Amino acid sequence: MKREHLIKPVLDHHYPTIQYGKGVYLYDDQGKAYLDASSGAVTAGIGHGVQEIIDAMLEQAGKVSFVYRSQFTSEPAERLAKKLSDLAPGGDYWSFFVNSGSEATETAMKIAIQHWQEKGRLGKNKVLSRRMSYHGITMGALSMSGHVLRRRRFIPLLEDFPVVAPPYCYRCPLNKTYPACGLACADDLETAIKRIGAEHIAAFIAEPVIGAAGGAVVPPEGYFKRIKEICNRHEILFIADEVMTGIARTGAMFAMQHSGVEPDLMALGKGMSAGYTPMAAALVKDHVMEPILKGSKSIMSGHTYSANPQSAAVSLAVLDYMEKHQLVEAAKVKGSYLLARLERLAEQFEPIGDVRGAGLLLAVEFVSDRISKLPFPAGLGLTSRIIDKAFHKGLLVYPAAGGVDGAGDAVIVAPPLTITEAEIDLLVQLLEETVREVL
Ligand code: PLP
Repeated sequence: MKREHLIKPVLDHHYPTIQYGKGVYLYDDQGKAYLDASSGAVTAGIGHGVQEIIDAMLEQAGKVSFVYRSQFTSEPAERLAKKLSDLAPGGDYWSFFVNSGSEATETAMKIAIQHWQEKGRLGKNKVLSRRMSYHGITMGALSMSGHVLRRRRFIPLLEDFPVVAPPYCYRCPLNKTYPACGLACADDLETAIKRIGAEHIAAFIAEPVIGAAGGAVVPPEGYFKRIKEICNRHEILFIADEVMTGIARTGAMFAMQHSGVEPDLMALGKGMSAGYTPMAAALVKDHVMEPILKGSKSIMSGHTYSANPQSAAVSLAVLDYMEKHQLVEAAKVKGSYLLARLERLAEQFEPIGDVRGAGLLLAVEFVSDRISKLPFPAGLGLTSRIIDKAFHKGLLVYPAAGGVDGAGDAVIVAPPLTITEAEIDLLVQLLEETVREVL
């Protein structure tokens, strides 16, 4: 192996060097084009190389790129916080800006715990989550994540927070069927609360649509209403992890708007700056901030680059671009088109067991037997093989981890919201060629 210095995800793997990106395509230094059907890690929501964003970056860089948040505030950060509050379900949110989705969920976790501390409820410091979940890679965020592969190495250091059954209707972990189940998976939160004791629980965190840990798993109708009602009844805050789903991805600015629930806190990342700069946020409702405002008046968290003006200016430009090009609507319309195309592919191809998702956050799950829904053996490494084959063909798709509640191999298909129907047709054609060659 050639002597290298950059630590990459897999150390003995060859990664092509990227040269530039334009629209839904990325181009490497050999001139090969890749159709970015995963928006990177479900991030590049408006596509690559958008001039308006580059202009906004340059304009802000010409003023100031960095100030330290305990010394100054900045106009872009203030404007972005106001804009997010205006867009978020029910409004009245404060924003704590950070740099990654992991920091966003972990900040939300800390604020939820601090909320109860300021009220003198010192024992409320656990944050329950679902077994099929991913909330980030830092230790606090990983404690809330059920993602087996990412968690495994650090189990002795982690809290055991992912205890609640996921709303995974394709293979119900409770062996029930919707609607006869009466939303038993939501009621499983209440069972966990009663076992652990509400006096020990600060919050419950969940992804509106489960992403990396399950592959675009959409909960049944009424699920989040029931979850919020259970949380309210037991004085537990509800954190919606919108890192993957937020900012138009599912055909609503925030995925929680599909269920009409106003979370107490939200985590945002990825699509917030559409990959142009690192930017993420914990959004906090007024009533959660209230005891902190009356009490210590300071949130015990933060990072050197928190509320970075350069990143805030980029996020504002991304939100403007989305409004101008009506990308919330586009996610809905293009999402229906892509879903229909994938469903048609599933009809013709036995090993596709399920096609699901919301807006342009879709996934395809593979099974060795459609009737029994038996997954392929984990040892086959099917997800990796599909992703590698697709990559070779110039198509980027994203892995969804199986291993929890019977889930098997699945890939996420989540192209930029700017994708055209013709590009979707090519995407599906390349995916079909890929799966037919691998399976
Ligand atoms: N939460 C969710 C739902 C995610 O999908 C991710 C990343 O995939 C994270 C949190 C962590 O975000 P980041 O990788 O930016 O730290």
